[in-house]
Amino acid sequence: MKIPNMLDAKKRNKNEVKYTEYNVDFNNFGENKKFYVRTYGCQMNEHDSEKIKGMLSSVGFKSAEDINDADVIILNTCAIRENAHDKVFGFLGVLKHMKQSNKNLIIGLCGCMAQEEGVVDEILAKHKYVNFVFGTHNLHRLPNLIKENMDTDKQVIEVYSKEGNLIEGMPVKRASNYKAYVNIIYGCDKFCTYCIVPYTRGKQRSRNKDDILKEVNKLVKEGYQEVTLLGQNVNAYGKDLNLGYDLADLLEEVAKTNIPRVRFITSHPWDFTDRMIEVIKKYPNIMNYVHLPIQSGSDKILKLMGRRYTREEYKTLFDKLKKIDGIAITTDIIVGFPGETEEDFLDTLDIVKYCQYDGAFTFIYSPRVGTPAAKLFEKDQTTLEEKEQRLYRLNELINDYSLMSNKRMVNNTYKILVEGLSNKDGMMYGYTETNKLVNFKGNEDLIGKIVNIRIIDAKSFSLDGELVE
Ligand code: SAM
Ligand code: SF4
Repeated sequence: MKIPNMLDAKKRNKNEVKYTEYNVDFNNFGENKKFYVRTYGCQMNEHDSEKIKGMLSSVGFKSAEDINDADVIILNTCAIRENAHDKVFGFLGVLKHMKQSNKNLIIGLCGCMAQEEGVVDEILAKHKYVNFVFGTHNLHRLPNLIKENMDTDKQVIEVYSKEGNLIEGMPVKRASNYKAYVNIIYGCDKFCTYCIVPYTRGKQRSRNKDDILKEVNKLVKEGYQEVTLLGQNVNAYGKDLNLGYDLADLLEEVAKTNIPRVRFITSHPWDFTDRMIEVIKKYPNIMNYVHLPIQSGSDKILKLMGRRYTREEYKTLFDKLKKIDGIAITTDIIVGFPGETEEDFLDTLDIVKYCQYDGAFTFIYSPRVGTPAAKLFEKDQTTLEEKEQRLYRLNELINDYSLMSNKRMVNNTYKILVEGLSNKDGMMYGYTETNKLVNFKGNEDLIGKIVNIRIIDAKSFSLDGELVE
């Protein structure tokens, strides 16, 4: 049994990253069995789930449409805020009941929550029916761990605190035939004081550019229309490799593969260079959309958060990005960070008014065990009610600006990549180059194609359009 430790997870070593090819030396043990994967959290987790599905398919498992038909259920979890944690433990209760009527059901838990000491302790003490637990550093070991559980009928816990080799060539079962995620960098070394990611995902490790380009070229051959380069902080790409090759170089080479659309998330303002901006401007197939989390508009709070930029520095970068033709910029904001006063919060509203974001993900600060801000939280004076009020006020402002920016699009025509049937009857949906959701009347033949859509109506979170022949 291997259980995680937060202190070990925090340590950083200078060891060079080693690359290993994925290899499983047994096959088809999953024949006649079905899996169901439930994913919580960010795009990184969504893509990890695509690898989980790929690995299971490669050893004979089939995908279950309905969770009730599954022989193996895997929860790929998120640890970023307490509510994500509560959802998972709530759902484990449901699975416990399912297992009472189906003794052979295999339940697995993985992802960022599995990297938390407290969670593994809780599973060991109170959730014996969970068959196996594995972490973010040994995703590739999934087939081995399920097999071990099936062979021994014993609970298998294998979570490493430290990252190991970077595994290339893992099988992937992608959710879409048109847009794909491609990891470019794993982990994070920023250690923002509120954030658990540097502990759950390990040190910053870039993939080799040749492996990334090989993957993108394969996607181009398969007819993919869009790639999203993924990382907790993609702008730090290459820093750990010391080859003088950074995100600007990589974006340029990915653009040259001629894939119609290139996206990248998430950007930390600290590592955004002028050259990266120039490359985005230069290549029409690099989308004019940047997600640039600010977190707070108060210099005092930014410092306590360990974000390493001031509001003025952020505004300078923002202004440079705004010069990119037609660009949309979105952000992340945390309210109620320990010590945030009404004045600090007004600074946040003020910078939102300055930036007039196209959209934002907004959160109430959630203390995470083992992070520095959790200690500040113990002395925090602001009530939850005040924080909820702040979130409400912030969201009202954010929504006003989203609506305003969407309204400016009405009567203009944009290229959208059609993704599928929308919830509405007979309506299709897709995204603009600036990542705005558009619903329009069309037929299913258009799925996977880039079409021209004239915008006829705007809401805060979506647009209505019509097909332009
Ligand atoms: N690496 C990305 C970055 O730095 O922008 C995103 C990391 S995280 C998955 C996404 C967002 O969750 C963060 O930008 C932050 O706003 C929010 N977040 C992280 N830790 C949080 C916490 N303890 N409480 C509330 N929100 C948090
Ligand atoms: Fe967390 Fe900060 Fe790293 Fe983003 S940059 S993952 S917020 S520590």
